[in-house]
Amino acid sequence: MTQKVFPIRSSRSPAPVHDGRPLADTLGRGLRDLRISVTDRCNFRCVYCMPRETFDHDFKFLPHEEILSFEEIARLARIFGGLGVKKVRITGGEPLVRRDLHRLVGLLAELPALDLTLTTNGSLLVKQAGALAKAGLKRVTVSLDSLDDATFRAINDADYPVARVLEGIDAAAAAGMAPIKINMVVKRGVNDGHVLAMAERWRGTGHIVRFIEYMDVGSTNGWRMDDVVPSAEIVRTIGERYRLEPAEPNYTGEVAERWRYADGAGEIGVISSVTQAFCSSCNRLRLSAEGSLFTCLFAQQGHDLKWRLRHGGSDEEIVNEIAAVWRARGDRYSEIRTAETAKARKIEMSYIGG
Ligand code: SAM
Repeated sequence: MTQKVFPIRSSRSPAPVHDGRPLADTLGRGLRDLRISVTDRCNFRCVYCMPRETFDHDFKFLPHEEILSFEEIARLARIFGGLGVKKVRITGGEPLVRRDLHRLVGLLAELPALDLTLTTNGSLLVKQAGALAKAGLKRVTVSLDSLDDATFRAINDADYPVARVLEGIDAAAAAGMAPIKINMVVKRGVNDGHVLAMAERWRGTGHIVRFIEYMDVGSTNGWRMDDVVPSAEIVRTIGERYRLEPAEPNYTGEVAERWRYADGAGEIGVISSVTQAFCSSCNRLRLSAEGSLFTCLFAQQGHDLKWRLRHGGSDEEIVNEIAAVWRARGDRYSEIRTAETAKARKIEMSYIGG
């Protein structure tokens, strides 16, 4: 199997000229967040994300020459900054498997007024946290689905122990990154019994755990609605043990709903992508490792930006192209999700960037 199993639109004729007004899509949503995937490869084979049966030895990942260089990514990030992007998240695949990632962090950290962060499975953080922090990375999100070693190894399907990720989190904290966010995807019958232990492990540490509803991204994980643990249930479970109070969002369009421990021991977040769709405030755009734009995590089609980038496109031409893609955007997949749409062929998260 190969990674490119979905259509990519490409406009090789000039896009309509961008008039400089703030971008708004067809539903009036602005552009604020950009997720940049730096690789489609990962050293984990999480059963719900990159199941080994599909992502095996024969799987054809993107060839190196198709992947954007750090300089190409930095140029695009600068252009996106000019279009109103305030936050950039580096992701993948597993971003830390991309060689010398700290170099990209250094280039992006130079861009003015950009909130830069990175999502990682944490397994390589011990080695890299120092270099990443030195290059300008101020905070990080680490995915960790259980503190129970057997469960965690079964989920990552690559025999990585929990201890390795915990060391990575400590290394990031020691390097000065804060706040550290810890993402746990909760799947019914797999790790829903581990929610309270996860909350308790990080309560009072300054780190923020975020519980994510299991989503129907991609087409390889056999998603079923029955597997989803609604966020309301998670808040109830933790709230029965520790009193929780709702907290205001940090900014409009923030994906996590924040809950504060009433005793001042910090906060948790829940991301209810399935039970409480937040399409109406979605201001995110994704750039795949090979330079295609995706206007929705559940998109079935991307838009090739690399062609213009590699064929002498000026900044102005690239601005026009991005503006045209955003202005045409009408995605609201999570609001119209049904059992039928969930079966549609969608792009894998490891490709598009989580
Ligand atoms: N490798 C990095 C990591 O592990 O964080 C970045 C990429 S990963 C695709 C980003 C996040 O997406 C992880 O927290 C992962 O658990 C989450 N994820 C993957 N598939 C998911 C799904 N079907 N539903 C919800 N979250 C998912």
